[in-house]
Amino acid sequence: MYGRYGTDTFTFFLLGLGLVLTFCGSLFFWPITLLGDAVYIYSIFRMFSKNIPARQREYYAFMRFWGPVKKWFALQKRRFAERKTYRYFKCPNCRQDLRAPKGRGKIEVTCQKCHKVFITKT
Ligand SMILES: [Zn+2]
Repeated sequence: MYGRYGTDTFTFFLLGLGLVLTFCGSLFFWPITLLGDAVYIYSIFRMFSKNIPARQREYYAFMRFWGPVKKWFALQKRRFAERKTYRYFKCPNCRQDLRAPKGRGKIEVTCQKCHKVFITKT
């Protein structure tokens, strides 16, 4: 593997996508498995590629899409873990996600992002 690109998050995403496409193709419509095979071949091509700058550009383009998705799932996980102690809400002005301890009644909230002051119930 010397001088080869190797693996990154995009490669693992492609392998997972290939697995899903192969599984869906075997259940529903067989040409979808060919698409899954193409995704596998592309991920193997990326791993053995010597054109590292091109693979890094692909990775950064992927992360522009995947970063917000990953961040959203992390927020949902945190919201679920803290569901008994915190209430989550959005700022009515800028849609920033905010949280406050539960069971405090009506509270005045100042948004950290846009400094809008509003009243909400926790
Ligand atoms: Zn705000």
